[in-house]
Order: sequence, then C-alpha cells, then structure tokens
Amino acid sequence: MILILVASTLQQCSYSQNQSKLKQSKMDSIKKDNPMYSNTDTSKVTLSNDEWQKILPRDVYNVARQKGTERPYTSKFESFSEVGTYYCAVCGNPLFRSDTKFESGCGWPSFYEPISKTSIIYLPDETYGMSRTEVECGRCKSHLGHVFNDGPPPTGLRYCINGVVLDFAKAKDAENAYKSKQEKSKE
Ligand SMILES: [Zn+2]
Repeated sequence: MILILVASTLQQCSYSQNQSKLKQSKMDSIKKDNPMYSNTDTSKVTLSNDEWQKILPRDVYNVARQKGTERPYTSKFESFSEVGTYYCAVCGNPLFRSDTKFESGCGWPSFYEPISKTSIIYLPDETYGMSRTEVECGRCKSHLGHVFNDGPPPTGLRYCINGVVLDFAKAKDAENAYKSKQEKSKE
C-alpha cells in the first residue's frame, strides 16, 4: 500500500522540490492574489475548480482540489514546532493549533484534534483499495488529508495532513493581525 501511495505521488516529485524554495514568496502571493483568503471570515467558499486553478499555486491546487498527496517528509511543517495556528492555505480557515500537533513519524504533519467542529468535514474514502476517512476544510471543502484511529490521547485520532495546504501563523503574529483588524473595523 505504501508503494501505491508513493507511485501515485511520483509525478509531483521534481515539481515540489522546486516549489519548496519558493515557499515563502508563494505563501505571500496566495493571500495577495486570493480574494477568498481570510482568517476570520467564516462564510462558506464555493468556487469551481476552474476558478481555483487560476488562483492557487499548482502544488496547492493539485492537493487541495484534485485530492493529490504530497511526498512524505517533504513538508517543512512535518518536523516543525513553532507555537501558533495552522490555517487552510486555500481559504485561511483556522484548522489546528500547534499544541495539538505531534510527531507521528508518518511523513506528514500530524494533529490529534482540529480547532473546532466546523474546521473539518469528514468523508468516506475507498480509493486505493483502502477504507479511510478523508478530511476536507470546513469552509472551502479543499482536500487536506485523512484521519486515522491510531493517534495519541486525548482523542486517539491522527489527522494526517498535507503540509502544502497548511498555512502557519506564529501566535504573536496572529494576535497582532487580529488586533489590527479590530482597530480597522473601529475606524
Ligand atoms: Zn479552506
């Protein structure tokens, strides 16, 4: 089964390696060019894949909208321990807090609990001869990864998430962004 997964992600190899160097500028451009991106707007986002394809970088589009899988151990978030919040890289929806992240060793960023019940949508996934539960963003329905029953307490769950569809803000940065938004809305 691992072989199948690896084979299915091979096409992306050379591509995602080039992309990692561009990660920072790419993440900035997502927000600038993506009118749907917001860390505070909770209204549902329903764009067609044609529209998303124009907005999103190719590797994000491939995972988020075509249910692709990034190569294991390629995400900078896989062994990343900064304190803060992980958002959907497609729409900015808050998904996971860093204190629910754990080292699963599976090759993808792993969490045991989403921020809220509405952060995530759950769907049965029977592809590749496996019976799994797919997780999608609760706001924009982008594919994030899968959830398994072999996680640590208190939930016993392991949310195995493609790092390319995650966007991270340090606790302090997020707080400042929130405050400046509050200030603006008062003006
Ligand atoms: Zn989203």
